[in-house]
Amino acid sequence: MNLSKSLYTKAIQCPKVLWLKKYKKEVLTPPDSSALAIFETGNVVGELACQLFADGKEVLYSKNYDDMIAQTQRYLNEGVKAIYEATFNFEGILVMVDVLSVEDDGSVCIYEVKSSTSVKEIYLHDASIQHYVLKGLGYSVKSTNIVHINNTYVRGDELELNELFSVVDVSAEVGSLQAGISTRLKEFEEYLEDKVNEPNIEIGSHCNKPYECDAKAYCWRVQRHVPAYSVFNIFNLGSKKQVELYDQGIINIGDIPENFDMTALQKQKVQNYKSKTTYIDEEKIEEFVETLAYPIYHLDFETFQQAVPEFKGISPFEQIPFQYSLHIEHENGMLEHKEFLAQDGTDPREAIAKRLCADIPKNVTTLAYNMSFEKGVIKRLASSFESLASHLLTINENMHDLMVPFQKKYYVTPDMNGSYSIKYVLPALVPKMAEAYKELDGVQNGSQAMSAFANMTKLNDEEKRKMRNALLEYCKLDTLAMVEVLRKLKRDIK
Ligand code: SF4
Repeated sequence: MNLSKSLYTKAIQCPKVLWLKKYKKEVLTPPDSSALAIFETGNVVGELACQLFADGKEVLYSKNYDDMIAQTQRYLNEGVKAIYEATFNFEGILVMVDVLSVEDDGSVCIYEVKSSTSVKEIYLHDASIQHYVLKGLGYSVKSTNIVHINNTYVRGDELELNELFSVVDVSAEVGSLQAGISTRLKEFEEYLEDKVNEPNIEIGSHCNKPYECDAKAYCWRVQRHVPAYSVFNIFNLGSKKQVELYDQGIINIGDIPENFDMTALQKQKVQNYKSKTTYIDEEKIEEFVETLAYPIYHLDFETFQQAVPEFKGISPFEQIPFQYSLHIEHENGMLEHKEFLAQDGTDPREAIAKRLCADIPKNVTTLAYNMSFEKGVIKRLASSFESLASHLLTINENMHDLMVPFQKKYYVTPDMNGSYSIKYVLPALVPKMAEAYKELDGVQNGSQAMSAFANMTKLNDEEKRKMRNALLEYCKLDTLAMVEVLRKLKRDIK
């Protein structure tokens, strides 16, 4: 059997996806822009982690893995002490070790680099198959380690690699996984021997763990006809009640029996779906609206993250604000718009904090959708810029959350699919605004905005101008959408 390390870990999640990857690739969903950004981050982090191991040599990628294996051997023969992407094959199992460190006594240490901030269980399987291959080839493996990002690190003037990365020795865990590997490989081999029939594996919580499976659209929608809004949205995936319904062949919310045991919230969602009616608690919404004093400052930030912090005072994966849009709504309905978009390639935090203080006076109502995000951004700015801290924290104190009426179920429509995310609330309340996003050129959602800004330094002047316009148009629409949602709420309680 021919199997790579990445296919082995996929198969650990579900043997069916291994089969599909080998024999029915066309049904798999290709990676989207955020998945590609994660791969890119992984590459950057992987290359940087190599610098932890001095005087190493890299095995250059080749489609012919035998060339990579031969190059690895040459480096071993030459006495190279650290080999990046060291490649081995044992009985058809191909692994590329991120960093192989060769000790003076000839034993080796395996280092698997991950761009995440902790050791996840799947990484142990990833490391264990590398250990299995090297042991099988007769190497003495002294230790197996996971190298991951330390998210408590705060960058100083320089990047301190030894602090940015945490190295965790997982030899014991990997050792205890060795006994099960041969059996697992045999099981995978049996699945792959039948090239015609797919493994008959049911959908379940494993479809999302540890990663959302790229066969989900195929297994769920195409094969099992699970609708976009189904019992899986009412009951937690893998929960007793969800499994009970699924075992009875019930996936449509409309088919849930009237007497099925549910919590009050689950019942409300089901009733709302079945009756196809909109529920509006006018009294509660009025109470909410009355907490907002005019003028209302509708605020939305865009942020990006860096696995490897480029700026002093930043931690890995910290949300760094680079843009905001602000619609100021006056009592007479008049709207003013203000915005900020940082220059790419610079630390945007101080400039954005100053402009925010200039644009939002101390004692006004600021409105955000899911304000914990905006408050978190402002709080971090306040802790970084002492002279602005008092003003910034006042903005936070006066912030209200437009998500509350939906989160607390004061306003529920069947089109919200049981969700209070703006992704569902906006098309349900103001469909024309939701359509407006689809007409935007270049940037249509937060993750596209994030990667557009993070990659802007790579663009030429003309491309940059266009991308900046796209970002401004997108963010502006976010706060305009909030204005429209609030207006709709007010209309519906009159
Ligand atoms: S979607 Fe679920 S059942 Fe289908 S291959 Fe993936 S993990 Fe397996």
